[in-house]
Amino acid sequence: MLRIEKLCKAYDEGGVRREVLRGASAHFSAGECVAVTGRSGSGKSTLLNLVSGVDEPDSGSVWLEGRDIAACAERERTLVRRARIGFVFQFFNLIPSLNVEENLRLPLELNRLHRGAESRIDEMLGRVGLAERRQSFPDRLSGGEQQRVAIARALIHEPAIVLADEPTGNLDAETAVRIVTLLRELSVRDGRLLLLATHSEEAAAAADRVLRLERGALVEAGR
Ligand code: ADP
Ligand code: MG
Repeated sequence: MLRIEKLCKAYDEGGVRREVLRGASAHFSAGECVAVTGRSGSGKSTLLNLVSGVDEPDSGSVWLEGRDIAACAERERTLVRRARIGFVFQFFNLIPSLNVEENLRLPLELNRLHRGAESRIDEMLGRVGLAERRQSFPDRLSGGEQQRVAIARALIHEPAIVLADEPTGNLDAETAVRIVTLLRELSVRDGRLLLLATHSEEAAAAADRVLRLERGALVEAGR
């Protein structure tokens, strides 16, 4: 369902070329939860940004549902990203001026999924255990609650892939485990691929498979 092939990406830092990815390749199936680990700066976020089409590789391919999005024009990549990908971030990235239900409505509106939107919002909030917080603003919620809203927002338009970049990086250990478990359950149950970039051992332990970024390549990490 997702296949990345020989991805290379270098950044130019004041005239110095830094090769972050040097031929990263991997295969992913629907309904899998895969952790991408590696030390800070190893290229985890870079890799996720190439999978989502936020960024372009210098070379290599990102085959998503039969199409190489690395070879698509930016406009097409944006449409694929919006419709087929859901994101969860370290700092939640909820829109502070919108309440919970308005935050959840956004991906539906962007994808013109108007029909049944309200019941979908209800259902998703129920699944993350926040049915009572529909009207709350993000700053009234705890970190764990904000991340649960972010999970609902990432899943509400039924993406094929859920990309989570250090989703537990800003949570205490106990909440972190609950959040990863929830994210995993809700993604995998519906056959979505969950790619979890994390340097946390506990978060990686929830995955079906762990890939480690080492010197710009992805290696299957034994568990
Ligand atoms: P990780 O998420 O594993 O911590 P990143 O993918 O964020 O790693 O970064 C990998 C390396 O690429 C780091 O050395 C970082 O400084 C560099 N890098 C990331 N994004 C950029 C950018 N837009 N411009 C220049 N360097 C970048
Ligand atoms: Mg990162």
